[in-house]
Amino acid sequence: MQIKRRKTRQIKVGKLFIGSEQPISVQSMSAIPASKVDKCVSQALEMQAAGCDIFRFAVPNMEAVKVFEAAKSAGVTMPLVADIHFDHRLALECAYGGADKIRINPGNIGSDDKVREVVKACRANGLPIRIGVNSGSLEKEILAKYGSPTPQALAESAMYHARLLEKFDFYDTVISIKSSNSKNVVEANRILAEKCDYPLHIGVTEAGSLNTGILKSAVGIGALLMDGIGDTVRVSLTADPKEEIKAARDILKAVGYGGNGINLVSCPTCGRTQIDLVSLVSEFEKRIDGIKVTRPITVALMGCAVNGPGEAREADIGIAGGKGEALLIKKGQIIRKIPEDKIIEELIEAIENL
Ligand code: SF4
Repeated sequence: MQIKRRKTRQIKVGKLFIGSEQPISVQSMSAIPASKVDKCVSQALEMQAAGCDIFRFAVPNMEAVKVFEAAKSAGVTMPLVADIHFDHRLALECAYGGADKIRINPGNIGSDDKVREVVKACRANGLPIRIGVNSGSLEKEILAKYGSPTPQALAESAMYHARLLEKFDFYDTVISIKSSNSKNVVEANRILAEKCDYPLHIGVTEAGSLNTGILKSAVGIGALLMDGIGDTVRVSLTADPKEEIKAARDILKAVGYGGNGINLVSCPTCGRTQIDLVSLVSEFEKRIDGIKVTRPITVALMGCAVNGPGEAREADIGIAGGKGEALLIKKGQIIRKIPEDKIIEELIEAIENL
């Protein structure tokens, strides 16, 4: 059954829209100081090529503001976000300096008047604002009320800031609530989703290393997506940001938002396996991004012909391994045998001719 997405308003970010009528976009963030403009621009181009939809730079000083114009002149077309803390003047400069979205934590921007100035600059340039709330940024009063950064406290803080922007007649808002605890992320976003129709940027922050971070993110982001909550995602990893894109796309695929891509199914192997399925799956995964498909396709790589064809029946196409060969199977029907050294080539050709 298809997941019914929570209905949200649509927010324009550069050339993209974020919201329930749009595909779920994938974001990442640079760890390079934005004042190292050339390095940041090269990284942005790499991230764009890797499938990143929206990319963010931390802007700690005026020097860093140049990164937006420089990236655009170099051919970066994906929307770029300015991440601002503490100094609202940086947000103003970025709004006029080529950023496509401003991320602020209104809690540390200062007085309402400063927030009003940021709103004015964003409105003048047609930019949305992301309110980013996390466990470490709660207002003293809210923290005192709840005693700790509970999901209720996080959601209340987010709504407080959204209402502040509404007071200035600003509604082009995306909200994120993040925590390093997947369960809190899920609960806080569920509460928030009930209280507003703003698109939600979801993710588990400080999730950890490649393996741990992907697991925590898959639990937090995956649970929300299955509820229909979440319009743009970021997987935060202590790793190359290209890994964040891959992980986010894999999570989307696992939930069923794979788009026109390949959903790979493979068996765990067992005592019946007579083929090197581990190497075959690894080889296929390396080639997967280069395979031309124009619709969602499930491909099954199964270890044997005893259960393989049956287990792969749900797949569009696949193989079931034998001794020194494999059966090519389409929708549960055996098509022909392929010698072991030609399995990947012939499978890819068959997929592209589906
Ligand atoms: Fe074992 Fe065959 Fe099932 Fe793979 S498909 S787990 S090899 S029985």
